[in-house]
Amino acid sequence: MRVAKKIDEVRSFVRAARMRGAQVGFVPTMGALHQGHLALIRACVAQNDVSVVSIFVNPTQFGPREDFNSYPRPFEQDVALCEKEGVDLVFAPSAGEMYSPDHATYVEVEGLTAGLCGQFRPGHFRGVTTVVSKLFNIVEPDTAYFGEKDYQQLIVIKRMVADLNFPVRIVPIPTVREADGLAVSSRNLYLSARERRAAPALYRALCEGAKAAAQGASGFEVEKITRQALEKEPLFKLQYVQAVHPETLQPREDQGVPMVIAAAAYLGSTRLIDNIKVEGRS
Ligand code: AMP
Repeated sequence: MRVAKKIDEVRSFVRAARMRGAQVGFVPTMGALHQGHLALIRACVAQNDVSVVSIFVNPTQFGPREDFNSYPRPFEQDVALCEKEGVDLVFAPSAGEMYSPDHATYVEVEGLTAGLCGQFRPGHFRGVTTVVSKLFNIVEPDTAYFGEKDYQQLIVIKRMVADLNFPVRIVPIPTVREADGLAVSSRNLYLSARERRAAPALYRALCEGAKAAAQGASGFEVEKITRQALEKEPLFKLQYVQAVHPETLQPREDQGVPMVIAAAAYLGSTRLIDNIKVEGRS
């Protein structure tokens, strides 16, 4: 397995693979790899001839008061995990390699980024779509893998790829969870023992909402049921619960399924997000 820090090295590696007729798969990450990332990497390795994983904590997607500096960076461990999974190339650029001091171009998806996390993290999705565009231009993958854990991000990336004609197929991967239901996340490392015990309440609340949705409840009703379920866990400070259409991300309000119930909540100073999709009535 190669570890490349430079864009040119990635380009020549991928182009040589493509000359041999290889299909190239790509998994963009911020590192601190866990079982969620590994599900993406395993799908990528299984479905492609050559697999590229990027590890880059992208400064432009963090707000000024967010956790860019404290974000975990266990680089050696991440590289070892990639090697074990059969990854061919890890791309781990410096911030300077990705953004020149006079960088002035951004990619922005309108509409879909306005609600949900977009309301609370101004500039976040602009940072994500900008870095993913750059990574797609550097790696030129045939297929790229994204987790449903970050559901709004997945929909925003799909829109960007369609709108800007990136020749990349986007493959969504279901959320990987701990045994108690908590969605696996690099930020779970921040939780105290007490917070970690409280954390599964977020998914439990979403499941209560999903049950109501499957029985015919409207978006408004589902949001209320989910909110009330989460309020039973006093350590959580809810940021939002919203029932939205799975493709348009428009609020469901007085409509029912299909819907994605998405939530963000703080446990102490750690912000957790999760979601659940309800396709139809049971
Ligand atoms: P990140 O390193 O947090 O930027 O995540 C990189 C990719 O892994 C994104 O596409 C995430 O949606 C995905 N991901 C993160 N956590 C999970 C999880 N628990 N299950 C599935 N995918 C995940």
